[in-house]
Amino acid sequence: MNKISVAIDGPAGAGKSSVAKAAAAALGYVYVDTGAMYRAVAVYALDSGIDPETERDRLVPELNGISVTFEASKDGQMVLLNGRDVTSRIREADASMGASAVAVIPEVRKKLVAEQKRMGESGGVIMDGRDIGTTVLPDAELKIYLTASVDERAMRRYRENKERGMECSYEEIKKDVIKRDENDMNRAVSPLRRAEDAVLVDTSELDFDESVGRIIGLIKEREEHVL
Ligand code: C5P
Repeated sequence: MNKISVAIDGPAGAGKSSVAKAAAAALGYVYVDTGAMYRAVAVYALDSGIDPETERDRLVPELNGISVTFEASKDGQMVLLNGRDVTSRIREADASMGASAVAVIPEVRKKLVAEQKRMGESGGVIMDGRDIGTTVLPDAELKIYLTASVDERAMRRYRENKERGMECSYEEIKKDVIKRDENDMNRAVSPLRRAEDAVLVDTSELDFDESVGRIIGLIKEREEHVL
């Protein structure tokens, strides 16, 4: 079977990365988490004492010296920043905030989009993010817009936090989800939007296995078409 390129976009908290990762593992595709790349650039800034919100003038000249790579590891995938393992570091709260901030810097997007295009060249990849179907892989054989209602996405995040023993308020989390949606959809550079030819998958009523099954089904169907 011919492997294809798959672009998965959608708002924060829709389950893109976990669903994409599971589908890639099941089908022998390479999974590329583009959000991790923005997060790693944010970690570079933070570790260099550069404020990602206010000091873009200091960050931009450093971009040539920043390398973000992925490496297979026993528990999935490692994210390396200039060779250093930052897999856990990029999930911390300051890296999430920093990622949103560096993601609006045109020079950062230019660099990362060029690298993502290269990673997608050979096919057999599932790439997730916000601008994959529209900008990074506009010719992907399959584009998916994965979403879920605001309430459902907030509830999933709330349950995750509870499971980790974190105290949190559902209302606060919901406000946060709404704010991130606004940021991602209304920013001037590469706003989140559904590509015209993207298949809409709403996971509000689907559990994790059903969501993965839906994605795998779409990929297999498209593989047959491009034979
Ligand atoms: O998907 P994740 O939450 O890890 O993304 C981190 C940040 O990077 C988000 O705030 C998002 O706005 C940004 N991002 C982006 N373009 C992508 C992937 C992520 O702007 N392709």
